[in-house]
Amino acid sequence: MSVTKRTSKNILLNTALENFYGAAEEMGLEDGLIERLSRSERSLRVSLPIAMDDGSIRVFDGYRVQHSTALGPAKGGFRYHPAVDMDECEALASLMTWKCSLAGIPYGGGKGGVSCNHLDLSEGERERLTRIYAIRIAPIVGEWEDIPAPDVGTGPVEMIWFMDTISKMRGRFEPGVVTGKPVLSWGSKGRTAATGLGVATCAKELLKAVGLDIEKARIIVQGFGNVGSYAAKFLSDAGAKIVGISDITGGYYAPDGIDVNGAFEHVANHSKKLLEGFAQPGLKQVSGDEILEIEADVLAPCALEGAVNSSNAGRIKVKYIVEGANGPVTPEGDEALDRNGVITVPDFLANSGGVIGSYFEWVQNMGGLFWTEEEYNNRLIPIMTDNFHRVWNYAGAHGVKMRRAAFLVAIKRVADAVKMRGAFL
Ligand code: NAD
Repeated sequence: MSVTKRTSKNILLNTALENFYGAAEEMGLEDGLIERLSRSERSLRVSLPIAMDDGSIRVFDGYRVQHSTALGPAKGGFRYHPAVDMDECEALASLMTWKCSLAGIPYGGGKGGVSCNHLDLSEGERERLTRIYAIRIAPIVGEWEDIPAPDVGTGPVEMIWFMDTISKMRGRFEPGVVTGKPVLSWGSKGRTAATGLGVATCAKELLKAVGLDIEKARIIVQGFGNVGSYAAKFLSDAGAKIVGISDITGGYYAPDGIDVNGAFEHVANHSKKLLEGFAQPGLKQVSGDEILEIEADVLAPCALEGAVNSSNAGRIKVKYIVEGANGPVTPEGDEALDRNGVITVPDFLANSGGVIGSYFEWVQNMGGLFWTEEEYNNRLIPIMTDNFHRVWNYAGAHGVKMRRAAFLVAIKRVADAVKMRGAFL
């Protein structure tokens, strides 16, 4: 490889670039394609003036990056967070390119956001911010151009404001311009549970692949929010013993198995949707850090990035990790796990049920269709199963870790699309 490698002071972008260059070199990708895929196709910076509730005007900085549209329209969320900047959006947009490619869906990768603390904004201020953001990035978004979705600090309500603004600007209803909408307004039944169902499907296939009976498997799930709670529920329904769960209130350990449906109900009825106060016979409360180090077969970190890192990876006792969260294992943590023979299903495979579910929402919107939850799940499970085995088999055949295998499979599909479509794409 004789290209001059890009580097960035932004850790996320630098890591994304390093991962890309490492995989590209290993697969012998041509220099021209390396140059091309190490850059984003389009980056838009916008200023967002809004009237605050007290009558003052504040101007926020907004961004939208399309890393690649080789496989189809750009797809990726927009977030409201103080750390949002162009480099972060670029890193996350490139990760969406690889995630969509690996998932086998016809999308490229995009990401956007606004640098703000959304918790300091009133509902009216958030609505005005979302509508001006939609207006400013309207020239590059659309059902066939770039399809945003919720991310950190944004949810179904922001998606409706976004869709409504674009539809009014264009004078026609455009539900497929954004996904993650509420079910009553062109959203999808099944989307809420989709990421957790995908994580559970990967864990089940992994157990099958290594010859461990699911009914004998002991599993720890860190984070009992959207992803973790559904992952735990689907695995428990399949017969696995969930021995530990956790959230910001700490860890909950039951060697004979957590009553996951009971925990689910407890969280649904808790004013802040937390496990705080959850009880069952034989349950021990431990710290959030301790739960990660309990002896079990599988750990599914479904909370935050960096949960398994250089300081605790050596004490992790499971044999398998299925990454429900984005980036829950740091590169140093990954090396330590690898030395101990732990097999990890990487995040952009394990949690891709979310983006596959977004694709289902868009497909239904474009066709004016409304699937049942059963139809939705019956389409999601085989796709996740196939994707797991594609990466598992590649890793086995080439003697590489699943994370590297996933990158190689994902990059190849995008590179092939670029080559087929031609240099001026
Ligand atoms: P969420 O906010 O619904 O849940 C997060 C959970 O983690 C909460 O239960 C919270 O209490 C818990 N938590 C926070 N800090 C913790 C700690 N130190 N120890 C233990 N638990 C802790 O978020 P989510 O939507 O479930 O997302 C979780 C992760 O999955 C994030 O990394 C997100 O980017 C990723 N992800 C989510 C989706 C999706 O569809 N929701 C899709 C792909 C990836």
